[in-house]
Amino acid sequence: MLIDRFGRSIEYLRISVTDRCNFRCIYCESRGPLQRLSARDILTYEEILEIVETAVGLGVKRVRITGGEPLFRRNIEDLIEKLSSIEGLCDLSLTTNGYLLLEKAEVLKKSGLKRLNVSLDTMDPKKFAKLTGGFDFKKVWDGLLLAEKLGFTPLKINVVVIKGVNDDEILDLAKLTLEHPWEIRFIEYMPIGNSGRWKREDVIWIEEVKGTVEKLYPLRPSSSIGGGPAKVFQWMGAIGKIGFISPLSEHFCSSCNRLRITADGKLRACLFSDQEIDLKAYLREKKGSLEEAFSLALKVKPEVRNLQATRRAMRAIGG
Ligand code: SF4
Repeated sequence: MLIDRFGRSIEYLRISVTDRCNFRCIYCESRGPLQRLSARDILTYEEILEIVETAVGLGVKRVRITGGEPLFRRNIEDLIEKLSSIEGLCDLSLTTNGYLLLEKAEVLKKSGLKRLNVSLDTMDPKKFAKLTGGFDFKKVWDGLLLAEKLGFTPLKINVVVIKGVNDDEILDLAKLTLEHPWEIRFIEYMPIGNSGRWKREDVIWIEEVKGTVEKLYPLRPSSSIGGGPAKVFQWMGAIGKIGFISPLSEHFCSSCNRLRITADGKLRACLFSDQEIDLKAYLREKKGSLEEAFSLALKVKPEVRNLQATRRAMRAIGG
């Protein structure tokens, strides 16, 4: 089984299926000239399936599909369908910016996708357009309502909180849980792949965010599914939940349960470490077995994250 040098059991694999995205979010390196990966650099669906089958054989139980924007990859529902039929894979989810949910939510549901995480940093259509590079808030909102109707539960909403950008909306976003069975998760702004845009003074520690939420109503501890790092709570009487993710102020590395695969097929032991194992060499050049590649990743997995150690763009890592 996948147990690293620090006794952490790895049961969660995040797979970026593309570095392409339609949005140009201000905290992502997708603004400005982009070095795009070629089709040859990207893993094929067959290769992703082979990797996941191997990983499940080694004890992985959860897979999250990410990007860039995974719904941008052609016929993504075919991959979902094949992944969802892998015995031993208990949880299959996908992270999206929500812009293609109206078109894709139904076919994803039919293909066996269990859960969705949608990035939504503001409820203000003007600010949304500014944050994303000109996109329509209402299309994402209608996509969320459709996903709720189709029964994607819990629908998790990821909110990256940035000072002076959306910290004035913390309560508005949290109030969504009064009307929707959603899980609104506030995430500290991380210094990953945003080409030097990240500034310490733009970060709001999660304790401060939680304090703002508690000003309205008291929070009681709750739980969630998915094996993620969020600390989850609920307002009395609310139908949804509120989660807090603190990679900077209170890291959760001691209970880390995950590995990542980048859009160009690199096995990455930690979000904040650029030490990667090129799985394409194992898949295409038969350098060795995938099992060997996984155990190599466990050997280089750091005990704790190093915030300064990554140069990779978030859109190639997949968060
Ligand atoms: S920062 Fe790295 S070690 Fe820490 S929880 Fe994230 S992936 Fe795991």
